[in-house]
Amino acid sequence: MKCIICGSKASWVRSTQFSGDHPFCQEHAELEDDYEKSDSYVSWSEINEQPMISLTQRRVELVNLPVTIKAIEDLELLIKYYSKDLPGPAYCQFDHVDGPGTVRVQLDRKITIQALRAQLQRLYDYLESLGIKP
Ligand SMILES: [Zn+2]
Repeated sequence: MKCIICGSKASWVRSTQFSGDHPFCQEHAELEDDYEKSDSYVSWSEINEQPMISLTQRRVELVNLPVTIKAIEDLELLIKYYSKDLPGPAYCQFDHVDGPGTVRVQLDRKITIQALRAQLQRLYDYLESLGIKP
């Protein structure tokens, strides 16, 4: 619903007995003489638009939510660790593809944090698409 004065997102609706419902943004609601007045002719109600998730349409996403939340927690932890500028390089150890043993790879902290933050943002965006705030 949009404010009947300015067209921005309405936060209040004034319901009247004789002239119907009028949506207002916060600012314009407060400017009305009868703001928050309630009697037998007029009443104000706050618009509380909570997004609803459909269990039927979003079952898979909801079932997998713990995996997403765990991934977010892991990424937040890694960002916390990598943000601390310890002396010396940050090494990761990988199995060698051509034989036994491991290979040590040096990671640039700035690049690593950037990549982790980008991944974290994708998960936040995904949650938001489900109507969940990070
Ligand atoms: Zn307005």
